[in-house]
Amino acid sequence: MADSPILAEEAELYRIAKAIHSEIYSIDSHCDTPMYFRYGIDIGKTNPAWILNPKDLGAETENEPVRYNLKVDIPQMQAGWLDAVFMVAYLKQGARDDSSLRQTVEKTGSIIREIIAQVEKNRTVAGIARSSGDLKQLKAEGRKAIFIGIENGYGIGKDIRNIRKFAGLGVRYITLSHNGDNDLCDAAVDSFSEHNGLSAFGEKVVREMNRLGVMVDISHTSEKTSFDAVALSTCPVIASHSSVKALCNHPRNISDQLMQAIAAKGGVIQICIYPQFLREDGNATVTDVVNHIDYVTQTVGIDHVGIGSDFDGGGGIQGVNAANELPQITLELLRRNYSKDAIAKIWGGNLMRVMDAVQKQQ
Ligand SMILES: [Zn+2]
Repeated sequence: MADSPILAEEAELYRIAKAIHSEIYSIDSHCDTPMYFRYGIDIGKTNPAWILNPKDLGAETENEPVRYNLKVDIPQMQAGWLDAVFMVAYLKQGARDDSSLRQTVEKTGSIIREIIAQVEKNRTVAGIARSSGDLKQLKAEGRKAIFIGIENGYGIGKDIRNIRKFAGLGVRYITLSHNGDNDLCDAAVDSFSEHNGLSAFGEKVVREMNRLGVMVDISHTSEKTSFDAVALSTCPVIASHSSVKALCNHPRNISDQLMQAIAAKGGVIQICIYPQFLREDGNATVTDVVNHIDYVTQTVGIDHVGIGSDFDGGGGIQGVNAANELPQITLELLRRNYSKDAIAKIWGGNLMRVMDAVQKQQ
């Protein structure tokens, strides 16, 4: 019986992809997995599906409970040839009085400590990474690298000293806002344009992040805030999980002008695997993910694109729905003739370059 030429070709692509991943560093720059720690999951294990009530996670509308499978854990990272992930402390935007801010800052610290505890519990297979050097070291040891981020500058309250405190715990980026304006800036979604971009406090925050080597993340911020942050920052900025506005008109996506500004400063746009950021009808596949990567590459070059899934925060599409399915992106990049060097840049090289530049400036 003759072999199927299509399957033989796919098998060859799979072999090439696996060989490439053994030599490059792959990073997913955004997942919200810590939101699920409260359900007693262990990132070192394959966790059974559980019944999740979206209201428990702060959904405002009454949603039907769903059966949920965690999208990021060490076994799925191993299966997906993923070397590193940014796990973030997500703070839902809420009230901004002193008492609420105090509670929010406390919550930020407690989520960060939970991330560290999860990694500590699994230290034979994972470690906390604070730099590209840490990632290289962990990969050499056969362990997964867990980086820490904060999703929403609300998490530092109004006290600039909290940036140093959280950076000391390992935080490598802060997303300046989530949905809704905060004391730092205006957001892309649910905004009243309270500050017309970055506030005076937000400017201080960006300067302090530059000083401490913490990456400035403009995913979730308004167009004006994003331009303000890029202009003010003395080192490259990132969009940790955003896609391309020209391909999918969503306020969370990056316009061509903003893309050019980010690239001109040496930054990187990490394409988000959130269905509604990839296609307006939400029916996205890996073809759309790589269409967005193609677009950034063709518009500002191969040095300014990466991947930030938003898994366990709403990210995930048919075919690329959890960390173990991420190699589908590599296969599609190979089908479109991306070189090994280009794939290395997309999967982590670009973000590592930015991390190095931001830390070197200290
Ligand atoms: Zn987000």
